[in-house]
Amino acid sequence: MLGICRWYDCRRRVSPDLGKWVERGYGQALVSDMVRMLRCNRVDTDCGLMFDPEPPAVTLRLSQLTWKANVRLRFSCAAVACKATRFATAEAVMDQLRRQGHRNADFRVEELASLMKGACRTCKGTAWSVDVMWANTNTMGWRSGGRPWPT
Ligand SMILES: [Zn+2]
Ligand SMILES: [Zn+2]
Repeated sequence: MLGICRWYDCRRRVSPDLGKWVERGYGQALVSDMVRMLRCNRVDTDCGLMFDPEPPAVTLRLSQLTWKANVRLRFSCAAVACKATRFATAEAVMDQLRRQGHRNADFRVEELASLMKGACRTCKGTAWSVDVMWANTNTMGWRSGGRPWPT
């Protein structure tokens, strides 16, 4: 992921190492926080740092996402008329993959959609899309024990 400051007299480029940010507990849902932390130190105007709006081509592995209270994998049924979702922890997904016979279950997130064998409980479809959900832990709701996904 590459960020470029849009001011012509700056044009600072940053390419944060997303793997490192993930290890520190930051995910893609927190791009706005990342911009804030990497902003240019201008006094005359706001920072013009912009990130490519494309999802970062980051290779997240399941093992990077395990045992993080604020991270869930969201499986969305790909059937247009269904859109049922379910949430799972990375460690639960790895358990399931091991039960499916994968001795090394440390897959990349983008591989999961084709690996999941379970059928949708709503429409019996078997096509899923997968994304990583990061909860912002700096909210009152989170600190008071609320969770943004069904447990
Ligand atoms: Zn700048
Ligand atoms: Zn479905």
